[in-house]
Amino acid sequence: MTDTGAPTLADGQRQTLAALADTFVAAVAHDDDPDGFFARRASDLGVPEALEQYLLTKLPEDQRDGLLSLVDTMAALGLANQPLVTRQVIVKVVAGIAPEARAGVDALRMLAIMLSYGTPDETGRNPFWKTWAYPAPVSAPPETPKTISPVVPDGDTTIETDVVIVGSGSGGGVIAGELAAAGHDVVVLEMGGYFNEADFNQYELWAYENLYLNGGYFPSADGNVSLVAGSVLGGGSLVNWSNSVRPRPDVRKWWAEDHGLEGLDTDEFDAHIDAVLERISANTDCSDFNGPHQRLRDGAEKLGWHLRTAALNVAPDRYDADRCGFTGYGDQTGAKQGTLKTWLQDAADAGGRILVRTRVERIVVDDGRATGVEATYTDPATGTTAAVTVKARHVVAACGSLETPALLLRSGIGGPAVGQNLHLHPSTVVGGMYPQDQQSWWGPPQAAILDEFADKDDGFGYIIEGIQHSFGLLAATARWKDAADHKEVMAKVGRSSWFVGIVQDRGSGTVATDEVGNAVHTYPLDDELDRRHFGEMIETMIRLQEAAGAEEIYLGSPTLDPWRRGEDLEAFIATCLAEPAGFGGTAMFSAHQMGSARMGTDPATSVAKPNGELHDTAGVWIGDTSAFPTCSGVNPMVSVMSLARRTAGYLADALAHPTDTDGAPVRGEATGGDGVPGLGGDPQTVPSDQAMPNVPTEVRP
Ligand SMILES: Cc1cc2nc3c(=O)[nH]c(=O)nc-3n(C[C@H](O)[C@H](O)[C@H](O)COP(=O)(O)OP(=O)(O)OC[C@H]3O[C@@H](n4cnc5c(N)ncnc54)[C@H](O)[C@@H]3O)c2cc1C
Repeated sequence: MTDTGAPTLADGQRQTLAALADTFVAAVAHDDDPDGFFARRASDLGVPEALEQYLLTKLPEDQRDGLLSLVDTMAALGLANQPLVTRQVIVKVVAGIAPEARAGVDALRMLAIMLSYGTPDETGRNPFWKTWAYPAPVSAPPETPKTISPVVPDGDTTIETDVVIVGSGSGGGVIAGELAAAGHDVVVLEMGGYFNEADFNQYELWAYENLYLNGGYFPSADGNVSLVAGSVLGGGSLVNWSNSVRPRPDVRKWWAEDHGLEGLDTDEFDAHIDAVLERISANTDCSDFNGPHQRLRDGAEKLGWHLRTAALNVAPDRYDADRCGFTGYGDQTGAKQGTLKTWLQDAADAGGRILVRTRVERIVVDDGRATGVEATYTDPATGTTAAVTVKARHVVAACGSLETPALLLRSGIGGPAVGQNLHLHPSTVVGGMYPQDQQSWWGPPQAAILDEFADKDDGFGYIIEGIQHSFGLLAATARWKDAADHKEVMAKVGRSSWFVGIVQDRGSGTVATDEVGNAVHTYPLDDELDRRHFGEMIETMIRLQEAAGAEEIYLGSPTLDPWRRGEDLEAFIATCLAEPAGFGGTAMFSAHQMGSARMGTDPATSVAKPNGELHDTAGVWIGDTSAFPTCSGVNPMVSVMSLARRTAGYLADALAHPTDTDGAPVRGEATGGDGVPGLGGDPQTVPSDQAMPNVPTEVRP
């Protein structure tokens, strides 16, 4: 491609790209094809044009050029003029040239397939969905007014405040709401946009583009893990699957005893957890079991393994089982009680200023203490930018564990542990095909937790849960041996139930930055215990599917054949366990990132003190999952909200009792009312059971 301003494709590239899309999603002969499922090609759905747009406008230049050079190689081999069988061979030959070529061909394949199965046509539905009886969208977005008015910069802007909070997710949102409600002046800077019920159209691909970091599931730099995190006002708490799990007592004890987080293992922290569970309306009244959850229960009952109903932060009076399944694409009902509906609303109501589409580039430090941040606002309509400078004595880094270390590194603060200890709860999926439709889109995406193996080895283990249906993603990650085989699998997807397994990782990965300061993530899965648990977790999910009556069982692997009932299950398990985990093998995912700027007592191995303030920079606080000393071992939302509430207390104390350096207060100096140091109250006086009326004791470990 010549670099002459706005990029375009040459005719030969365009024809090759179209032929390539029609190779991955091809017209294949099939005797029984009433919906035209097998006859439909990617180009019947306008995918080549969408793919071209994506390559030219969404990808960084180096990635785009890399993918187009693969297209050029295929063009040179005459791909566009060949029949399907030859095109398939060419694709495999090009993928075999080098690992980079394989990664590039995989990326093109996944994009073409995701667009084919995820994009609605002019009727608002995708024709493939009919075959699965997938009814999306089940309702139009309601005309719900927006209740927060973000500040929109009019040119370059400088703002002064007490505290600036960077990131508005599960951690940052809580700190903003707690401090604003206690009378402090707060400014929240969020790089994502502001969306509410009126925007949520129940489309998967729209959600990835608008609500998720880096446009949805994206690979780590080593290609080992597919990472996913929210990037929107409300962060992960807006898109997550609502599973509201109380932190584990043994993990709390480690954090207190081994990492110096005093009070984590006492009633003092219970008071934070109880207050969080009450504020987010955690309850089990909405935890309906859809097909996949019924299969999970069937399997667990048959095998005698412990399964518990999950508590969800879904308000029962607004819950609608027909629409709850779309939570990850934004909740139209308004039932989901993430930080947008709770603490961020509190912050706005108390006069806190919120800016969206505002990415913080760096924290400004003078003589060892924070003086504010420098950020860039981007107008979503025009793309024009404005510099935003916030002057503040306290800065909370709450960008999530994938981005907080990058912010610290760009700012040159945090010490040697910044970006180390990235825990991911490495996950993978196992699917079962059943005789009947499973309706995985109905009811909550995650309504149960199989915790039989949660702490099987010295406190480490894995859990099994349900997942949200995401058919574009599923199609893109499904086995692709050839076009006909992929179609055969996809035609049955309506009858599939998928489980996800989540390893409590002892090992970790890293976050670094590239030459322009963007985050670079790696995760080797090199800890012996983690590798063993990853394999055992796959075996557990296979046995669950078999016990529940699956006719076929699929591992999340690009090449592995499924098990079919009647075949040797033990041989299938052995084959699955022989697959490498990560790049080129069994797909690894992570929606739970933690620990990359962790709290602790030692500045050599931790970034923040046990109260949340940086060891090396007064007035900078870690307010998100990156503060976790280890992984949580359970879905992290309630843990991070509770820890953030605790940190808000220490920060409020620092505001109330400024010192020479205005640094961390001495623990125990707090006074006042509701269990948060500095925000008032004696934490010991809140009995945990009273403070959490909605949560039955059986969901509390
Ligand atoms: C699909 C999915 C399902 C999940 N399901 C569950 C579940 O059911 N239960 C559970 O407990 N957990 C779940 N999680 C995980 C949970 O949501 C996260 O662990 C949690 O939200 C992390 O909180 P955080 O504050 O660390 O970061 P986030 O909530 O991710 O918030 C970080 C925010 O910072 C913003 N940001 C980043 N960099 C900058 C910058 N430089 N400037 C300004 N803003 C910035 C981001 O845009 C983002 O909005 C799920 C996550 C996902 C993605």
